[in-house]
Amino acid sequence: MVTRWTRQLLDEATALTTEKRYRSALGRLLMVLDVYPGLPEVQRLAGELIYIGARTTSEAAPEEQLGPRQLFDTRLNAVFCACEAPGCGVSWVSAHHLLGDHGGGVSISNPMGGRCDVCAVTVCRRHARPAALGLGCPRCGRHLDPVPAPNGRRHSAQTERLNKPLVHVIVLVEGKRPPSPDFMTGLCDSVMPDVFEDSPRITGNCSRRFRGDEGRTEAVFHAGALEPAYLTDDYDLRIHPGRQAGRRGQRWVIAKVFENRPKHVDPDNPAPQH
Ligand SMILES: [Zn+2]
Ligand SMILES: [Zn+2]
Repeated sequence: MVTRWTRQLLDEATALTTEKRYRSALGRLLMVLDVYPGLPEVQRLAGELIYIGARTTSEAAPEEQLGPRQLFDTRLNAVFCACEAPGCGVSWVSAHHLLGDHGGGVSISNPMGGRCDVCAVTVCRRHARPAALGLGCPRCGRHLDPVPAPNGRRHSAQTERLNKPLVHVIVLVEGKRPPSPDFMTGLCDSVMPDVFEDSPRITGNCSRRFRGDEGRTEAVFHAGALEPAYLTDDYDLRIHPGRQAGRRGQRWVIAKVFENRPKHVDPDNPAPQH
C-alpha cells in the first residue's frame, strides 16, 4: 500500500520531472527509496527520471542537472542495468520502465547494452557481438533485448548510503602524512557526497602500514579510539577500503559512522515492515 506521504512525494517527483527539475525530482524519490527501497513504483519513476534526465540534462538549469554525484548514489543501484562481463564496470538505465510491458520488438538506436533472455545475461555495448540490427549475445549470437529490466548495479563508485544520519567520517590514508584538505575534498566528492548533505564531523589521519585486510582493522580501531560508543549498538559503523587511481595509488580506508536511527520516516506509517 502506498501511503499519503509516499503518494505526495511521487506526484511531486513526476511534476518536477516534467518541468526538467531533475535533481529536485530525484531528491523526492530518494526520500521514498530511503523508507521503501523495494517499492516498484518508486523504482519505475527513478528509472524514467534517470533515462530522460541523463539524455536531456543539458536542457535543465545547472543546479537541476544530473551528474555523477547523483547517478552513482547507491540507493539507485536496483534501477540500473549492469554489464556481467568479468571486470566490466559499465552500468546504465534502459528505456524499460518508460516503455512498460509494451517494449517488446521496439527498436532503440544506439542502446547502451542489452540482455539475452536465453542465456540470461546482460552485457554492455562493448561486450556484445555486433549484429545486423542492434546488438548480439556474446555467447549464442541471438539478438539482445535493447530495453532489458534492470539486473541491478553491484558496484558504484560511491560508498553505501543508509537511511540513518551520518554523524562522523574518519579517513585513514596509508603512509606517514595525514591527508591534505584537497585530498579530503576530492574523496568526499567522488565517493561520499552524502557528507555535503548531512554535515558530519570529518577526521583525517594516517596509518603507516595497513594490515592484510585493507586497513579495516585500523579504521575500526581508530573509530573506537575517537569515540568508544561508535562500537556500540547506538551507532552503525561501515568500513570502505579503496585506493587512488594508478598501480601505486595511495590506499585509504573510510569509516562512516551512522547514528542508529532512521533519517527519513513516513509519518503515515512510522514503523514500516521491510
Ligand atoms: Zn561490459
Ligand atoms: Zn545468448
